[in-house]
Amino acid sequence: MSEGQQPIASERKGPGLAARFVLAFCGLFLVFGSGVVFTVWNNDRQNADRHATDVLRREARSIAAQMDIAERDSQQIDTAYSLELVVSDPAAEPRGLRIVAADRVLADHGAPAFRKAIGEFVRGAGAGGEILVAAAPMKGGQVYVAAERRVLRHGSMGTAAFVASLFFGFGALAALIAWFMARSISDPLSRLTAFAETFGETFSAAPVEFKTGDELETLGRAVNQMGERVQATIRRLQRMAYSDIATGLPNHERFTRDVTEFLNTRQGETGGLFVVRLDRLDRIFDAVGHDAGDELLARIVNRFASAVRAIDRMVRTEHCVTLPSQLARLRGGDFAILASSFRGPEDAARFAQLLASALNQPFDWREHKLVLGAAIGAAILPQDADDADTAIRHAMLALSAARADNGRMKFFTKALDREAHAQLAFEREMRAALERNEFKAYFQPKVDLLSGRVIGAEALARWVKPDRTMVSPGRFIPAAEENGLIGSISEVILRDACWKAADWAREGFPLSVAVNISPLQFADERFTDKILRAMADAGLSPDRMELEITESVALENPERALRLLEPLRSLGVKVSLDDFGCGHSSLASLTRLPFDIIKIDQQFVRALAKDRHAPAIIEMILAMAASLDYTVVAEGIETEQEADFLRRRGCQIGQGFLWGAAMPAPEFLRFNAERANVAQRGVA
Ligand code: C2E
Ligand code: MG
Ligand code: MG
Repeated sequence: MSEGQQPIASERKGPGLAARFVLAFCGLFLVFGSGVVFTVWNNDRQNADRHATDVLRREARSIAAQMDIAERDSQQIDTAYSLELVVSDPAAEPRGLRIVAADRVLADHGAPAFRKAIGEFVRGAGAGGEILVAAAPMKGGQVYVAAERRVLRHGSMGTAAFVASLFFGFGALAALIAWFMARSISDPLSRLTAFAETFGETFSAAPVEFKTGDELETLGRAVNQMGERVQATIRRLQRMAYSDIATGLPNHERFTRDVTEFLNTRQGETGGLFVVRLDRLDRIFDAVGHDAGDELLARIVNRFASAVRAIDRMVRTEHCVTLPSQLARLRGGDFAILASSFRGPEDAARFAQLLASALNQPFDWREHKLVLGAAIGAAILPQDADDADTAIRHAMLALSAARADNGRMKFFTKALDREAHAQLAFEREMRAALERNEFKAYFQPKVDLLSGRVIGAEALARWVKPDRTMVSPGRFIPAAEENGLIGSISEVILRDACWKAADWAREGFPLSVAVNISPLQFADERFTDKILRAMADAGLSPDRMELEITESVALENPERALRLLEPLRSLGVKVSLDDFGCGHSSLASLTRLPFDIIKIDQQFVRALAKDRHAPAIIEMILAMAASLDYTVVAEGIETEQEADFLRRRGCQIGQGFLWGAAMPAPEFLRFNAERANVAQRGVA
């Protein structure tokens, strides 16, 4: 967990836990307290009533007794109803107590007098005053005494007030204690919440620390532990996300970050970004076997890293220890180096030169002598780019240029960038042309050198724009091979050629058609099915179909070539080895390939007139083909002499400008008819 981090206070959306706890407590206390106070008050009230009634009764009895004496002593009772007595009971404070009436008096004065007396009394007591009445027997009747209730009650209501104040006093104290108790629970919880919120947002937060000695403390410890584990996992994931698993070197993402950091923080410094492609890595792995691959890769990385360190010491003398150059693996055989603190572009050039020569030195591994075959593209920073992606892209452009030139090393230039943009624009144009169906199959005749008859044609891709102008195949075919569009273009040509050849057969010209197969088409697992489908859709008989595959494509994986081509050959499809003689395959390895025709590359035919070895090479190819029973097609025949030479050496079929370049299908059919006539007259 990171040190010194402040937990982010959690944003409360209502009263806190402690406040809610105390509110709930006070609420309960209020309800309970009010109940108790009400009970005490009610009890007081009832006691007061009882007391008042007792006082009144006592008064009634005492008046009755006085009346009895008075009657005995004198007859002064007539005015009794208006008599106001001062009662001696001090606790009763009986101000306003009146003898209201006596039966005897009522007898003399009648009920209305009593009612009047009561009425006066009630009015005297005021609105809402309650009247208590008590009666006592006296000689000859009853004495009634009435009084206001409030007058008869004494200070007993003080008990309720006392209880209430006591109760609420204790309540306030209890609320305070409850507040502190609640805080002691809610504080750790708030901290845990803040921790969870911060951690949830940033995967990093200061550990929660509190010593409550209870379950909360245990929970806090568990949460801290969990956070640490999550962070450790994140660190591991980050390591995995930012490093190449096979070599442990920083990967593309990490390298991009490092370059970004360099560009953002080391302004004013000259740096170099070098992209290195170890071209032969795959082939080396194939050669040594994949089991040994890991060990070999580790050895290569080791060698690479020590080369970088050594060059660092030579070129970046002062900074090689404090800021060593960083080596990363971008993907496959592509590595990259970021070197900073160059004194100028000359240092970067020297660095690249030394790197190229170090990596191209052969080295021993087990019983093998290996050469990595490194090509290097370099960009100078910040001069060539101001962001990491552009810097890497520019170094990659330089790398492609170095490889295209068969060179070992190239620096990025603005011209390379312009070229790349132009290529991109051209690629867009090509895609649009594919959609608009502007790629057509043109047919170059293949002629039987002995009879002079056309035996078939090679379908060649042509880009015919809507205004009938053509884009040179020398331009778009290499571009399509580079950007991968050659696969789609070849499929268009394949289908077009199948339809045209099927038409010719239907029109009575059973000519064969040869189509060129791109490496991309051949890499497709559905290759065989696609060819079968194209022939079936067009209704072309398989024995009219020929597939031209270059030596290098077929030899890359002879087993695969056999697996893909054999089913087609068994149906009658012919396979020819295009551009024969240009590859580097040994003659022995050729026998492992499933093919029927050899096409001698045009460079040998063209060399016939200039190179004194050329005839011998052609003779050798023809002799080998004859003994292995292959048909031979010579391409690029431009002159009668070339045709004659080949015919006399036993080459069966010729193709070249001598007869014609690739032409649209109708023209080809006309040409075929003309040739048939010429052949009939016996001219080849
Ligand atoms: P390729 O298959 O060896 O085709 C023969 C090339 O030689 C054609 O060039 C053709 O026009 C040219 N050529 C034929 N006779 C002569 C001659 O007498 N003199 C000279 N100087 N050249 C001659 P193109 O059409 O430019 O095609 C170049 C290459 O592009 C082809 O070589 C083939 O590898 C590829 N290509 C053409 N069309 C397709 C296609 O549809 N699919 C694929 N995958 N590749 C294609
Ligand atoms: Mg060809
Ligand atoms: Mg060829």
